[in-house]
Parts: sequence; C-alpha cells; structure tokens
Amino acid sequence: MRIVVKLGTSTIAHPTGRLNVRRMELLCKVLSDIKNAGHQVILVSSGAIGMGAGKLGLTEKPSDIPGKQAAAAIGQCELMYVYDELFGHYHHTVAQLLITGYDIENQHHRTNIENTLQRLLDFGALPVINENDTVATEEIQIGDNDTLSAVVATLAKADMLVLMSDIEGLYDKNPKTHPDAKLISHVPAITDEVMALAGGAGSAFGTGGMETKLRAGRMVNQVGIPMIITNGDRPELLYDVVAGRPVGTLFGERKETV
Ligand code: GLU
Repeated sequence: MRIVVKLGTSTIAHPTGRLNVRRMELLCKVLSDIKNAGHQVILVSSGAIGMGAGKLGLTEKPSDIPGKQAAAAIGQCELMYVYDELFGHYHHTVAQLLITGYDIENQHHRTNIENTLQRLLDFGALPVINENDTVATEEIQIGDNDTLSAVVATLAKADMLVLMSDIEGLYDKNPKTHPDAKLISHVPAITDEVMALAGGAGSAFGTGGMETKLRAGRMVNQVGIPMIITNGDRPELLYDVVAGRPVGTLFGERKETV
C-alpha cells in the first residue's frame, strides 16, 4: 500500500512551537515499522514556521510574510534534522522535497516531482514534503498542507491519504462547543452538506482547519483515492489504517487492494 501521511503542526509540536519529542519518536517508530512491513510511505510535514518561531522564542507565528519565511527557513532545518535522526534509528533514509504552487502548475516541474518521488520510493527512501515557504509568495502559494498533501497523493497515485490532526475525525457538530457531538466514521461522498459541518479555526501555529481537510478529501476522492482524518495524538492508529480497520473518519471508499 502506498500511503501519504500528513502531519499537522499541532501533531509534531507543542503549543509553544517546540518539538513534541515523545509524539515524534512514536510517529517515526510506527512509520518505520509500516515501511518495514512493505508499505510505501510519503510524509507531508507541516511545522516549519511553528518550529522556527518556537526556536526563536516567539509566542506566536510572525504575521508578516518575510517573518514567516524566515521562521520557515529556520524550522525546516530543525524538522529535517529531527526526521533524519529519528528515522535513522530504524535505518530509513529521508529525502526532502520543497514545492510551490508554481511547481504543481508547471507541467515540466510536475513531471520532475513525479519522477523523483517514484525513484525515491524505488530506492526505499522516505520522502518528506513541505511547501517551499521561503520562496512561495501569494500568487504561487499552495497555502496549507492539507491541500499540498492532496496534490501529493494525486501525483504519487497513492492508495490512501491520511491527515493526522488534533481531532479524531469529522463530527456531526463542533465537538469543542457540543459535548454530545458524534464522530462520523464514514463519509462516502463530500457533499455540500458535509462541507457545511466544517467550522473555521485551527491552532495558533497551524494553518488549516476542517474546511481545508474536506476540500483535500474532495480532491483526492475525485481521482479515486480515499482519505482518513485521524488523531495525531495516537500514531499507532496508523497500524489500523494499513490493516483496513475503521479509524477516525473515512472519506470515499477504500481501494480493493487496501
Ligand atoms: N508549510 C507550513 C509550515 O511548514 C505549514 C502549512 C500548514 O500547516 O498547512 O509551517
């Protein structure tokens, strides 16, 4: 199974913006194990801006573009250092890909990304992808990693996209304000009524919310790729994902090979 896993900032960093060491250790362990079992994994990792801000001792993300780009430049190094170190414990090789909206729209660049991804997977490497925040201006910005991960899943012809976030999945009401909200385990199609269930908001360091996740789901479902939203608090849920057991909210239908 070829699986694209998107890790949100709230999953890999504390609210201070500093690395969540225990979570990251567990995530890299589970992902390494899943690779050892023969699956192909592509990571889309957020956290560059948040971790850059954390490293600089800022209490929130910079609001201006050069500030965000500077924070991303600092945080992206930290991120890759950590992935290299943690996956290295399990003898896995990571590869960094930083892409912008321009690269997706430009046929030549897109083909290069597809070919590189394919070759990295053939090599048994683990691609770690983020937006190239230091060069992405508004016109060429993808903007959020939910969308980026949907693009990556499509380019990589993945069997599954998994968004790991600070929420269990999609609820029938906002669980933060309605304690009786129920988790929806399966959404066969992301209709306008389903879209209406998305609130706004995210965390202080993250970018996306439920809306960007549902839009990502629509993109991948259109090309036959199912998506799961699950809680990044519990990395071991990824074992259930690859085993085909119900976890979080499934959007679309699992492929038969999965
Ligand atoms: N590229 C941003 C970062 O690494 C994250 C965007 C997002 O979280 O959606 O900080």
